[in-house]
Amino acid sequence: MLLKHNPSFAILSLTALLAVALAVAAWRRRAAASASRPFILLLLSTAVYATVAALEAAAIALPDKIFWSKWEYVGSGGVMTFFLIFALHFTHKRQWLTLKNTVLLWLLPSLNVVLVATNEQHQLVWRGFVPSVQGTNQIVYQHGPGFYWVMTCVYLYTLAGSWLLVQAARRPVRLQQQQSRLALAGALVPLLGGSAYMLKLTPAGLNLTPMSFLLAGLIYFVTLFRFRLFDLVPVARDTLIESLSDGVLVLDLHQRLLDINPAAQQLIGISVTCLGQPLRQLGSSWPALAQLCQASATVPSELLLELSTGCYVELHVIPLRDHCNCLTGHLLVLRDVTQRQQADLELRQVNERLQAQLREIEVLQTQLREQAIRDALTGLCNRRYFEETLPRELARAARAAYPVAVILMDIDFFKQVNDTYGHQGGDCVLQAVGRLLRTHSRQGDIACRYGGEEFVLLLPAITLKDVYQRAEQLRRSFQAMHVPFGAATIRTTLSLGVGLFPEHGDTSQSLMQVVDQALYVAKAAGRNCVKCVETVV
Ligand code: GH3
Ligand code: MG
Ligand code: MG
Repeated sequence: MLLKHNPSFAILSLTALLAVALAVAAWRRRAAASASRPFILLLLSTAVYATVAALEAAAIALPDKIFWSKWEYVGSGGVMTFFLIFALHFTHKRQWLTLKNTVLLWLLPSLNVVLVATNEQHQLVWRGFVPSVQGTNQIVYQHGPGFYWVMTCVYLYTLAGSWLLVQAARRPVRLQQQQSRLALAGALVPLLGGSAYMLKLTPAGLNLTPMSFLLAGLIYFVTLFRFRLFDLVPVARDTLIESLSDGVLVLDLHQRLLDINPAAQQLIGISVTCLGQPLRQLGSSWPALAQLCQASATVPSELLLELSTGCYVELHVIPLRDHCNCLTGHLLVLRDVTQRQQADLELRQVNERLQAQLREIEVLQTQLREQAIRDALTGLCNRRYFEETLPRELARAARAAYPVAVILMDIDFFKQVNDTYGHQGGDCVLQAVGRLLRTHSRQGDIACRYGGEEFVLLLPAITLKDVYQRAEQLRRSFQAMHVPFGAATIRTTLSLGVGLFPEHGDTSQSLMQVVDQALYVAKAAGRNCVKCVETVV
């Protein structure tokens, strides 16, 4: 009987039940989402609103109807406030919800409840009540200015929440767009229902606002289960993005900053207040980046940037596309690689230092080796080098079957030179022999200072006749030499002994013995002459 005359009661009861069911479902899925708590409270307020509206619809006596109508303002106050709080959470602006702002937010609905509760005293909300259609228990509330004030508050809150959701729906992240659009649709349905009642487009006395929450509830239900309103994005956004050590920025196609996480704020040195601003206004190192994003087709997926803050970041640019695969913006991921870069730099510096040291060591080694094998006074190789080289040259000659000659020479009466001109005079003569040997050496010959005033010349691939001639040449050249020493010139002669490998000795030792013997013979023969082993024998 009651239902027949009163379909509002059935719809409102169903709305309340659905709101509670949704609240339970949301409670089960509340997990990491910060927006889930105000969403559950929004649903519970809806349930209260719909329940008291159902009771108002069911009530027959006028005082009962007025009583429940007053409670409706408690429900609608909760709905509008929790909707705005939910929108702030959902769009990541919950930092705005300080204690002071939250109290201020609740002030208006609370005052409205007081206003309607004391209507008997001032009749600002309802001026009077007239029965509606004959045979039903509906009444028409004659609204006063207080009612329109309350409705204005409801619209202000709902519009503010909707504006936030519209902003979020414009984001280039597709999932978030869909969620925001659905959340927005859920908000608009009761708004339209309420508007229809206000503009008297509904049958007299029938307020569609609570009933339209049934439809809103269904939309949220779809959002909740189909698009996982709180499962994915809040976890991804709040937990992952917010706490990510990498900086994350979202840009639209006009390079305006749509979103930025704390890590990116710290890295670039900007704050969330910069949201909506073009990137090129946000720091000296960013115009280049904005240009990079504009030429989206050629943007490298990875590049290294030095920020104006002195930090080095590795930048990954990820194009964002909508469901039609059209570019809607860019996601920038910044990784602080300053430490790695510094370590690289230090490593490079250490490496360069080591390389320089290595080069220095190599130079020193060469010098050392030079010093080890070279005679400082004459610039010829020394005896140690000769003794190392001779066996090697003989072995090579043996393999290739060619002879090797050795000329050993000794300055005659050198002691007298020293005695006459002093040690320095003697040194000049030694240097003159050095020059002589160098000028008389062919390529492949090895001239060494054998010790004191003795010199040795190694001549590979030469006949005995030729080596004899070469020794004679040396002797004559030296004899003709006038070694200048101060005002004087020093003249002296050479005695030379010659031997041939393998003919006169097939080892370095036996060869040197034979050559030494030849030199001895040359000395004994009166000096200033060449003797070879053949002349010795
Ligand atoms: P001989 O004709 O028999 O070879 O007579 P000599 O005087 O040349 O032979 P001796 O072995 O008696 O003298 C060699 C001298 O060479 C002795 C030494 O003081 C000198 N002498 C050795 N090394 C150097 C040197 O580096 N510089 C100078 N100025 N003299 C040196
Ligand atoms: Mg001598
Ligand atoms: Mg000597």
